[in-house]
Amino acid sequence: MESTLHAYAVKAPGFMPDDEGLALHDAALAAAGAGPIVEIGSYLGKSTLYLAAAARARGCTVVTIDHHRGSEEHQPGWEYHDPDLLDEDGRLDTLPGFRRTIAGAAAEDVVVAIVARAETVAQWWSTPAALVFLDGSHTDESAQRDYSCWAPHVAPGGTLAIHDVFPDPDEGGQAPYRIYLRACESGEFEEIPGHGSLRLLRRITG
Ligand code: MG
Repeated sequence: MESTLHAYAVKAPGFMPDDEGLALHDAALAAAGAGPIVEIGSYLGKSTLYLAAAARARGCTVVTIDHHRGSEEHQPGWEYHDPDLLDEDGRLDTLPGFRRTIAGAAAEDVVVAIVARAETVAQWWSTPAALVFLDGSHTDESAQRDYSCWAPHVAPGGTLAIHDVFPDPDEGGQAPYRIYLRACESGEFEEIPGHGSLRLLRRITG
């Protein structure tokens, strides 16, 4: 990974461990097929920067989708809440922080942010993606919906990446693990080597 962007990714706020971020970058770089890289769940742009470095090397774009009102686990009273992310009306707003991350790293040329619910965008999205990275809300309802809406947009030979896959319930929530199993059982993907909680699957059928 290009060293300047890597340095910004490492210091950006967020929940992507560096080793998994580098694995995500490498997967995006290696993914077969043309088309953009799509990220579901931008938050503050940390993992977006790992993808941005791959996009720049490939000559493509990262399209990252988030309503920027925070997932369930980011709301007041929940485990990952950060009171600094509340706007003047007391609503969570991660968009200003996201823009600071991307602009600070000079990555605005390869990152397109869509402020919307992922399922809304999926209704009109029609471009096969070289890589789709699922890292949105970690409730079962949201994770399953993100999979249903976005796994079909992985190009033939392209890669579906899923973050926070923990087979052991003691290590983390099970929603990402359940969509990983769904992908494995779909017959549409074959698993390729991932890293840590990042799982990678290559599309084998249209
Ligand atoms: Mg994650």
